[in-house]
Amino acid sequence: MVSVTPICAFSDNYIWAVVGERKACATKPCAVIDPGDATPVLAFLQQYDLALTQIFLTHHHADHIGGVRRLLEQYSATVYGPADPRMPAGTMPLAEGDEVALLGAPYRVIEVPAHTRSHIAYYGEGRLFCGDTLFSVGCGRLFEGSAADMQRALDKLAALPDDTLVYCAHEYTASNCRFATLVEPGNIALQQRTEAVERLRRRGEPTLPSTIGQEKATNPFMRTREIGVRQAAAAHDRSAHEPAEVLAVIRQWKDRC
Ligand code: ZN
Ligand code: FE
Repeated sequence: MVSVTPICAFSDNYIWAVVGERKACATKPCAVIDPGDATPVLAFLQQYDLALTQIFLTHHHADHIGGVRRLLEQYSATVYGPADPRMPAGTMPLAEGDEVALLGAPYRVIEVPAHTRSHIAYYGEGRLFCGDTLFSVGCGRLFEGSAADMQRALDKLAALPDDTLVYCAHEYTASNCRFATLVEPGNIALQQRTEAVERLRRRGEPTLPSTIGQEKATNPFMRTREIGVRQAAAAHDRSAHEPAEVLAVIRQWKDRC
């Protein structure tokens, strides 16, 4: 059985480690997603006696790629990521619809430009590794794309099965819940998620993975067609009607919070 473990990095990043099965007497293979820092990854690999074979990158930000060079000094891993000159040298470039084997299991590449213009996500085995595009109860900041880009990206992710496990790259859920509650104070699913998240954080546990179904029920950025979210956006900007316009208003609102 494959296992997925969060490796904590910096103040709130998760580097997801996928650990495969041991073959014969060799060490277990491991793939990591978005290793922004090599130090905690190297410690994890050593602690569990793993061989790093693959690195998957979602976008070029330093907190997602910063550890790649040092990891490659110690392991001969293949690096995958978007086609973007800002990615580490030697990255195998991937595009929409490409299939890539993650420890042998087929994953599909989904282009989700918005947080950055070349951001990609990986979907396979009922799992989604989505970097800084979709957060639990939130979404990434719009550094290089528009609200319409983010709406399109989130629509693509919303089309995945509801039970898809969502592995985001940051632990932002508690503060996202506080903002989402301003947008949709009457959302019962959001109230329940907020309570569950507070319990997990009190115990120091991750709030991830989430699921696509949970996000569709609680995440205001995935609910821009819901009447409550549209009304909340319209209270800030009466011209917000279309989903992308609603998303733009609540994204700007959140950026000010
Ligand atoms: Zn980022
Ligand atoms: Fe990030």
